Amino acid sequence: MKRPHLPIALFVSLGLVACSKTPETPTARLATQPDVVMVTLDTTRRDVMGCYGNAAASRTPAFDALCAAGLRFDQAVAVAPVTLPAHASIMSGQYPGRHGARYNGLFQLSEGITTLAEQLKASGYRTEAYVSAMVLEHRFGVAQGFDHYDDTLKQSDSGLSGSNAERASVATMDAALAGLGKVDRKQPVFLWVHLFDAHAPYVGIRDGLSERDAYLQEVATDDAQLQRLQQAIEARARPTVWWVLADHGESLGEHGERTHGLFVYDATVHIPMLLVAPGVAPAVRADLVSQVDILPTTLALVGAPGLPNLDGRDVLAGQRQGTETVISETALPWFDFGLAPLYALRNPGHKYIAAPKPEFFDLGADPGEASNLVVDGKLTGQAADWSVQVDGYVLEFGEIEAAKAAQHSANAADLERLKSLGYLSGSDMGLGRMDPKDAVDLVSGHSKAVELASVGQTDAALLLLDQVLSRFPTARGALFLRARLLAASGQYVAAEADIKQVNAAQPDADSVLLAAQLSLLLKRADDARLLLDQARHLDPNHGGVLIVLGDLALQAKQVDVARDYYEQALALDSMRIGRQARMRLARLPTSASLPKSE
Ligand SMILES: [Zn+2]
Repeated sequence: MKRPHLPIALFVSLGLVACSKTPETPTARLATQPDVVMVTLDTTRRDVMGCYGNAAASRTPAFDALCAAGLRFDQAVAVAPVTLPAHASIMSGQYPGRHGARYNGLFQLSEGITTLAEQLKASGYRTEAYVSAMVLEHRFGVAQGFDHYDDTLKQSDSGLSGSNAERASVATMDAALAGLGKVDRKQPVFLWVHLFDAHAPYVGIRDGLSERDAYLQEVATDDAQLQRLQQAIEARARPTVWWVLADHGESLGEHGERTHGLFVYDATVHIPMLLVAPGVAPAVRADLVSQVDILPTTLALVGAPGLPNLDGRDVLAGQRQGTETVISETALPWFDFGLAPLYALRNPGHKYIAAPKPEFFDLGADPGEASNLVVDGKLTGQAADWSVQVDGYVLEFGEIEAAKAAQHSANAADLERLKSLGYLSGSDMGLGRMDPKDAVDLVSGHSKAVELASVGQTDAALLLLDQVLSRFPTARGALFLRARLLAASGQYVAAEADIKQVNAAQPDADSVLLAAQLSLLLKRADDARLLLDQARHLDPNHGGVLIVLGDLALQAKQVDVARDYYEQALALDSMRIGRQARMRLARLPTSASLPKSE
């Protein structure tokens, strides 16, 4: 469809972007393709950024400088207060329900989805990503379309199969700048850098800082790395599109939540987000935007072909109007604790939270979401309308509780055998899908225990977990953590009791792998083999499972089989798992030196 064109600068100066109904691809007319640089600041609250009203005490000069140069979105909403679903939505332009990667660790972004990186690569971009947390390792699917995906991480906790590997922001940025230095200046680059320092634990606590000050220090550390990137991008001297945004915020005690993921209040879903682009005049945008808007906006900005089946829109071509809403969800309550998952529907003025005890807030009068306007659970007016919309979303994409069963297709015979051994029951976690609001003690105790464990205070962590589990005996996350800590401290029998309970309720590849490792340590190789098969069904791309399968084969003197498993693991993951695989491959005896077992 042919439409009249105006230069984008004119659109902005006339305020026409706001009401234009005609989608434009303004920068298609730029003389050169702009670089696209995206920085995702993990766990970063909106109100700690200088240009979001914290100017006097700003610790974010680099973010503030970009803010001043572009669009600051004042009503930007995260699709989920959880890292993988948020990043999967940024990369796909789809809500978690549609793209399916609804929680960390248990889900992958499907190969069938075309990502921002794939589309930019197809348009001639060099695509590079540098991430800092295990939940974004390439096996979880957000690596699709990247020529180079650097997920080099360091194991930072004491568990046998822990998931807390991460990389300091400075190391991630070192790698990103080295990679960027190798990209020809004549080729446009899509560079994504993910910085994770602001995620708990906050190192400053060890130096006696308060939790809030320690958190602010981490935010400042990430910002200092953003500054280094700005300098490197300036030196490339190309037109550049910048996106800088949080994947989600951090509660810092609001609503009784210490970190993020349990609730969908604004502390964690109302995020900082900015866009700097050639020809786009600096402004503050008061309309509603979501992480799902990044893909369509970027593709339009650089003149790349758009994609079908998106939940987002090009925010430079139009704005959401008063009655329009965006959705957020969190699957963490269900997958970690057996509590009800939550959905929130909001516009700039109001928010509805679908929960066993539903909530409706007037965000203008009550930005802290302290006064629930739903009385006695009775939904009226807008709350009632929005509850119907949430029902529609759940109906269209399925319930979070059923999502995992829909995604993995375990071998039915194996499932039966495992159930008969008491490993899997398929039941839920026995907390009766309690409202997360009624379980804040469980969750805060658990998250504190995770932090204690991650800094090596195993005994203190175990003590806290005992307290949590005495009140909530079936809480999956607490049981799993206790199992890992007990296993790491040599208490295999106690660890196995916990992990059996975990797998009976909600098995994943990590938890079944731990059960297999414990079976091995307790000299039950047959059980271990069965469990490893199951772990492979749950996640065929789990490098840790392949490593243990290799170890098992080696114990049985099947050197060639072991080598094959190690090589598979290496092919899947050249970094963290790859290091383990390489180490084992180097130590393998030659097959001639051992009798063949076949
Ligand atoms: Zn995150």
